[in-house]
Amino acid sequence: MNVYRTKAELKAFVASTRAGGKTIGFVPTMGYLHEGHASLLRQARSENDIAVLSIFVNPLQFGPNEDLDRYPRDEERDLALARECGIDAVFMPSVQEMYPQQPLTSVIVHQITGRLCGASRPGHFDGVGTVVSKLFHLVMPDRAYFGLKDAQQLAVIQQMVDDLNFAVDIVPCPIVREPDGLALSSRNVYLSALQRQQAVVLSRTLAEAEQWLHRPEITVEQFLKLIVERIQTAKEAELDYAELLRYPSLQPLEPQQKTAELGEKLILALAVKFGATRLIDNRIFESAEG
Ligand code: AMP
Repeated sequence: MNVYRTKAELKAFVASTRAGGKTIGFVPTMGYLHEGHASLLRQARSENDIAVLSIFVNPLQFGPNEDLDRYPRDEERDLALARECGIDAVFMPSVQEMYPQQPLTSVIVHQITGRLCGASRPGHFDGVGTVVSKLFHLVMPDRAYFGLKDAQQLAVIQQMVDDLNFAVDIVPCPIVREPDGLALSSRNVYLSALQRQQAVVLSRTLAEAEQWLHRPEITVEQFLKLIVERIQTAKEAELDYAELLRYPSLQPLEPQQKTAELGEKLILALAVKFGATRLIDNRIFESAEG
């Protein structure tokens, strides 16, 4: 497995790979890898000749009061897991290498970013779109793998690729969970024992939501009230948002609409804070029609 810290080394590797007619599968991450990342790495490995992983904690996508400085890192463990997954090349640049000067160009995706994490974390998706487009230009992947754990991010990247004609297929990958249902996240290590116990409220609420969604007379507003009440049963939980939206457009529904009459793809998306730790989870429903 090759480890590259500079754009020049990576570009040379990509050029020789492409000259040999080989396909490239790419998984961009911020490191502190877990089984969720590993599932993306294995899929990239199995569907392409060459699998590339990037590890970069991108300052551009963190707000001023967010966890950039304390974001967990473990280079050695990450490289061991990458090796285990059969990765051919890891790109782990410094901030200086990625942003030698303050960029004057950024990628902004409108509308899809107006709600959920886009609303709670202003500027976050501009940072994501900008870094992912830089990485796509460097890695030149045939396929890039993104987790449905970050469903809004996936929608933003798909839109960016469609709008700007990037020659890459975006492959959505299912959410990997702990045995009790908690979605794997690098941020789970921040949780105290009590918070960790109560964090299952996200996945449990998403699981129970299905029956509420199919109740014949329930409206979007009443459905969301049930969701909020369910989250509030966890004493340590502080709700950031709970929203039911169209997916992938992330456009809102009418509060008085009956959920059982919604014959389109929907997402129920949650963000919940446990102390300073903010967790997200979601579930996509192909249709709420009863
Ligand atoms: P991150 O390192 O958090 O930026 O995540 C890198 C990629 O891994 C993103 O595409 C995430 O959606 C994906 N990912 C993170 N956690 C999970 C999970 N539990 N299941 C599936 N994919 C995940």
